[in-house]
Amino acid sequence: MERENAWKKYTDEQLEELEALSSEYIDFISDNKTERECAASAIELAEAQGYKPLEKAIAKGHKLKTGDKVWAHTHGKALILLHIGSEPLEAGFNILGAHIDSPRLDLKQNPLYESTDFALLDTHYYGGIKKYQWVTLPLAIHGVIAKKDGSVVKVNVGEDISDPVFCISDLLPHLGKDQMAKKASEFIDGEGLDVLIGSRPLVIDENDEGADAEAKKSPVKAYALQLLNEKYGIDEEDFLSAELEIVPAGRARELGLDRSMVLGYGQDDRVCAYTSLVAQLAIKKPKRAALTILVDKEEIGSVGATGMASLFFENTIAEVMELAGEGGPLKLRRALANSKMLSSDVSAGIDPGYANVFEPKNAAYLGRGLVFNKYTGARGKSGSNDSSAEFVAEVRKVMDDAEIAFQTAELGKVDAGGGGTIAYIPAKYDMDVIDSGVAVLSMHAPWEATSKADIYEARRGYEAFLLNA
Ligand code: MN
Ligand code: MN
Repeated sequence: MERENAWKKYTDEQLEELEALSSEYIDFISDNKTERECAASAIELAEAQGYKPLEKAIAKGHKLKTGDKVWAHTHGKALILLHIGSEPLEAGFNILGAHIDSPRLDLKQNPLYESTDFALLDTHYYGGIKKYQWVTLPLAIHGVIAKKDGSVVKVNVGEDISDPVFCISDLLPHLGKDQMAKKASEFIDGEGLDVLIGSRPLVIDENDEGADAEAKKSPVKAYALQLLNEKYGIDEEDFLSAELEIVPAGRARELGLDRSMVLGYGQDDRVCAYTSLVAQLAIKKPKRAALTILVDKEEIGSVGATGMASLFFENTIAEVMELAGEGGPLKLRRALANSKMLSSDVSAGIDPGYANVFEPKNAAYLGRGLVFNKYTGARGKSGSNDSSAEFVAEVRKVMDDAEIAFQTAELGKVDAGGGGTIAYIPAKYDMDVIDSGVAVLSMHAPWEATSKADIYEARRGYEAFLLNA
């Protein structure tokens, strides 16, 4: 039951669409490297397609009706887009879900220190990373600094070609004998991921009695603080209320002589988030209400106000149903139970260098289309959503009718792997949910690889699901 490589079937017109989508996708993931940046850009794209803020509709008591399009966000890090269809909401929503947080290094609250004439920033990594992959790469800082006066300063350094970049240094091989004998997991520890940001001291007159004693003791740190103050108007204490994320610097690129793939940061899971977003914005006149939810915190367990487990999802649907004249707890429960969802997250693509951890009949291949995982889970399906056979059949029909290239896969061999997604969380409302997504190589590495064909099939498959499930 081998699935065909999608590239074999494309017409010239489809290839043009595929290239246009890939190029927009490359721009999106290059310009948006944090959950906040992704949410803000998604809102901008949605507004351009006629989506209105739900907040405003609630404040003004605007009724919602067929054809209306609204967006809602929480904390600027999770987002819901909704397009109301011709059927009552109680009949259920067709939902696309994906996450917009990606593995990275977060600055600690008290990050800045000086050592051996260098200024460094201490980090606490976010999500599952192989720490050794993050050393000696050009790095950028993205994020926000919230000040006590209520203002929020945006930070983005390292992306513009004229910007400086940052890095985590590594030991030269000549002195690395002991280091090289370590296991990869111990090669560098979490506390070792400190980012180099400066080496030039503030010049202070030793005899100046008025000069800050701290600055005299740590002049390189003092110079870094002076630069931060000049550029952002912040002082050291403002790091306490900042969310600054260290990510690989530079743009995503086409990968391969044939330019068939994309190499970029944060494709887990922005490849599914972007294709879901574009599908949601493209649909016209849905029968069932179409909803896309992009969430934060998947990489650390979907917890918190902005993760999938937050009541943001349920609360937003309750607000929408009230404004659509279908308020009340029972109708809300029915709408949720009658909903259908593609919970989209990246799948591990089979890698020729590591084929032994995959079972080839049930592995995802780059280029063979949108991946469906009936179950994910680890070792004995533990923690898996395990979608029901009847729903899998329905999804197969929707995909086949729309001529979408798709494949089915597990995440690695039975006893090798598995992984969590957001699928089990909305499934608790008794809705049908299946894991789907795009296959990726080097998942969670600073630079991940995907196939343009899979991006294209995901975009088409998501649209088919919103309109026809
Ligand atoms: Mn993911
Ligand atoms: Mn992940």
